[in-house]
Amino acid sequence: TLNPVSDRLFELEQRLPQAIAEGELILHFQPKVRLADFSIVGLEALVRWQHPEHGLIYPDEFIPMAENTGLDVSLGDWVAQACCRQLADWQAEGLRVVPVAINVSARQLRDEQLPERFTSFLSTSGVAASLLEVEITESSLVESIEIASKVLDALERIGVGIALDDFGNGYSSLAYIRTLPIQVIKIDRAFINDIRNSPDDAVIVASMVTLAHNLKMKVVAEGVELFEQLIHLKTIGCDEVQGYYLSRPVPVDRARQLLVQATLVPAQ
Ligand code: C2E
Ligand code: MG
Ligand code: MG
Repeated sequence: TLNPVSDRLFELEQRLPQAIAEGELILHFQPKVRLADFSIVGLEALVRWQHPEHGLIYPDEFIPMAENTGLDVSLGDWVAQACCRQLADWQAEGLRVVPVAINVSARQLRDEQLPERFTSFLSTSGVAASLLEVEITESSLVESIEIASKVLDALERIGVGIALDDFGNGYSSLAYIRTLPIQVIKIDRAFINDIRNSPDDAVIVASMVTLAHNLKMKVVAEGVELFEQLIHLKTIGCDEVQGYYLSRPVPVDRARQLLVQATLVPAQ
């Protein structure tokens, strides 16, 4: 009671295993839009905790907790399974689905059984591996690159896509990333934020786009909040954007509507 913040964190940590097991986690989905024609070409699944007393809790609060306690592996399995089931449901309805990306933690990347489990989630739900993508971060690679690169190779062999998330805020060089089966680079929103006002950031982003394209990788800009940022990114040849300007992460019903509508044309 002396420290309400740590009380809350303690309580959440105690309850997290139960929350994963008993269905208190839910997924929201944020669309990725191709700048060439504004079609929705992907969704990112973002986990939330629908807590019976505290309401909706965002991942920034419980993912670090899951990572510290080792629960990120079972949480990650839940997310992957939930995505496969969701894709299967949408396909059963006859919807035109797009690949769904899930965020994968450092420990998940060190788990050599992960590709097998993902394969079984996919086949149980009858979903093609090409409809699943993983997002990894630079920091999760640094910890144990040998195993991580084995796991990534196995995921690539299955046909799961691999994207490098939050690119630019870590330490990896593109030269080193080049040796991994990464097809997509997601530029961290910190660079996009100031793209219109900071000539430095604008140059950095333009160079990232050129470099990634030269390495045959696709580029997604994260955290696009303004029309001007979107136009700037389109002008420099960025492939896709994701961000509040086009859509916040949305619950499953709204994600379904987005799949039906298939495009998100900027209103200006
Ligand atoms: P992330 O993978 O980089 O996801 C993007 C985050 O940026 C999301 O926050 C999203 O809501 C937010 N975002 C999107 N567009 C904008 C924008 O235009 N402006 C701003 N300011 N923010 C934007 P969210 O959902 O709170 O997720 C935060 C982080 O939590 C994610 O960052 C990811 O690292 C982690 N996370 C989410 N779901 C999972 C999961 O299932 N497993 C793991 N291991 N981590 C997850
Ligand atoms: Mg992500
Ligand atoms: Mg990101």
